[in-house]
Amino acid sequence: MPADHRHLPAVTTRFAPSPTGFLHLGHAYSALFAADAAGPGGRFLLRIEDIDGGRSRPEFEHAIFEDLAWLGLAWETPVRHQSKHLAEYARAVEGLAGAGLLYPCFCTRADIQREVAGADSAPHLLSPIGPDGPLYPGTCRNLSQTDRRRRIDAGAPYALRLRMDDAIAATGPLTWSGDDRGEVKATPEIFGDVVLARKSMPATYHVACTWDDALQGVTLVTRGEDLIPVTHIHRLLQALWKIPTPRYRHHRLLIGADGKKLSKRDRAPTIRALREAGKTTAEVIAQAHSSAMALEAN
Ligand code: GLU
Repeated sequence: MPADHRHLPAVTTRFAPSPTGFLHLGHAYSALFAADAAGPGGRFLLRIEDIDGGRSRPEFEHAIFEDLAWLGLAWETPVRHQSKHLAEYARAVEGLAGAGLLYPCFCTRADIQREVAGADSAPHLLSPIGPDGPLYPGTCRNLSQTDRRRRIDAGAPYALRLRMDDAIAATGPLTWSGDDRGEVKATPEIFGDVVLARKSMPATYHVACTWDDALQGVTLVTRGEDLIPVTHIHRLLQALWKIPTPRYRHHRLLIGADGKKLSKRDRAPTIRALREAGKTTAEVIAQAHSSAMALEAN
């Protein structure tokens, strides 16, 4: 007897691009993957991740809508723009600060590099390497309250970092379920004391993305496998905020003719360039799928 799916809750997926460049074939694949994962009766959302005011541009956002529509995708409206919800993310960050889990860090990138390099002389102090490079060596972790106040009052720029060990102690062991690997043990410690806010930006990607996925009722997060590591942090934030955890599915990253992953920086062919070169929607979709299948075969 066929399974009766009528009473299963609908799957909600999302595509969450940052409007910092034109979409390329890899984005097309990711968007099609998310829409497809919603399945019949599911919900497919589009979210504009434009909290980085310095890099986001209206023309790129406009192009996202145009290119996705050209690909034949339809998403629910209204579309959530993260830049309009900065106060919400700031409150979420304040919640963590109130629980004593954040500290201000005044180090510049150069300070951190110097500190990490200096540790070479004492091998036991070497900073372990995380997915984003050497872990923060903890320079500002134990500044006195007076020192912090003095620097903040003097207008020194700072970032808010998570006390990773305390956060993990607060939640206990966590898992997330993803891909065909079943339950995955969450290991957010690979990032060390990750930055969750900056003076110039009330929340980083981890905060805004995790907050919105829960707020928007996303039940299945789909994204490229390059983002598997961040899922560990997102799972930790969900536990700290006591918000729901979606399921996760990560797709392979399409590779360009040069064998490197497609990226905006390397000028991968954009959807609009393919379109202007006379490709049809069906051809571009077929190209995205065949590039993905070539990967599966490898
Ligand atoms: N804005 C992020 C990006 O474009 C989205 C990542 C995600 O799907 O969580 O990479």
